[in-house]
Amino acid sequence: MSTLSFTTSPPWHDVSPDDWNNWRWQLRHRIATLEQLEQRLTLTAAERAGTVLAGGKLALGITPHFFNLVDADDEHCPVRRQVVPRLEEVSYSPDEMSDPCGEDGDMVAPGLVRRYPDRVLFLVTDRCASYCRYCTRSRVVSGVGEQELETDFEEAFRYLETHAGVRDVLLSGGDPLLLSDGKLEGLLARLRGIRHIQLVRIGSRAPVFLPQRITPELCAMLRKYHPLWMSVHVNHPRELTVETREALGRLADAGIPLGNQSVLLKGVNNDGKVLLELCQKLLMCRVRPYYLYQCDLIRGSAHLRTSIQEGLELMNRLRGYTTGYAIPQYVVDGPGGGGKIPLNPNYIVAKTGDRFVLRNYKGEIYEYPEQSPEPAVLQHGRWKD
Ligand SMILES: *Cc1c(COP(=O)(O)O)cnc(C)c1O
Ligand code: SF4
Repeated sequence: MSTLSFTTSPPWHDVSPDDWNNWRWQLRHRIATLEQLEQRLTLTAAERAGTVLAGGKLALGITPHFFNLVDADDEHCPVRRQVVPRLEEVSYSPDEMSDPCGEDGDMVAPGLVRRYPDRVLFLVTDRCASYCRYCTRSRVVSGVGEQELETDFEEAFRYLETHAGVRDVLLSGGDPLLLSDGKLEGLLARLRGIRHIQLVRIGSRAPVFLPQRITPELCAMLRKYHPLWMSVHVNHPRELTVETREALGRLADAGIPLGNQSVLLKGVNNDGKVLLELCQKLLMCRVRPYYLYQCDLIRGSAHLRTSIQEGLELMNRLRGYTTGYAIPQYVVDGPGGGGKIPLNPNYIVAKTGDRFVLRNYKGEIYEYPEQSPEPAVLQHGRWKD
């Protein structure tokens, strides 16, 4: 196990705490080349080939903070699998796509995706602190892929100002927290100036990749724009370091309700015990597990994907066995643009004429009578008029 403490970590042993705790230092010192990676890690042949070949698809990027969680002695390390490229990334299976969620087809302005009646996804940057090898938006994220993110902020704001049906705006990217406080505040202030926008959400992996970004100043700024919610992205309990837990605590103290969106990944978290520990530890950080995503059909991700059947079995091992708040909704984004589709183990065993046959988490069977369609009280007409 590599140590979590920077003072003993060989590659960065002479860093001052001030530098280490500075998010801009962390970004400047990201591992971004094969050479930098090999200075710190003995790569397997598959990793080395992946790093050479996949760099034109999604850039290599790992913050020193996150890199310290990689187990240098274990090529199967769940942290390593998320950020160190592998050769499998450059072989595409026939079902895979460059835009698996069909976002480009739902853009109402460049960078603004409207798939649902009352909410939009606003892609405000193409940069992240580190790059997840399975990123569903790798076509535009990191600046090296086949497309460029060409968000037109003026056009997006014009759309939002003139569409009163939009009540919820989700800032994403890339990672919105890579913007400076000033730039981010500019966006939030402008959104808050639109009366029909009730809710603003930020999707960010910064608390995990770059917890130093969650400064008291950032939190003080964010709290001026309530109700502001945030979704973070934690896949494995090992990511909940002291620094990340403190960063999440600062966000929670700023009154920001926190949710987590995990991606179900083979060799990372497709294990009942790991998922249970992750979900319980998230609650300790005041983060409510929100979604568990079936891995999207992004090109070159087959080695990280599990079957839906396996996902359902994992969900079956959560419900009933722990706090209801700890249980995320398992979803698949309908390939090509279907949006999020909930996937649930079957708790309805059968529906007979007038009863539902149900099973509980232990597999015991219960019956519940189906209500007749016309409740008696309505037939008596008391509230009918
Ligand atoms: C996920 C997503 C949203 C937000 O969905 P919620 O279920 O409300 O969290 C909105 N728009 C798009 C295009 C999305 O993919
Ligand atoms: S943080 Fe999100 S947007 Fe960035 S690489 Fe990871 S999955 Fe993609």
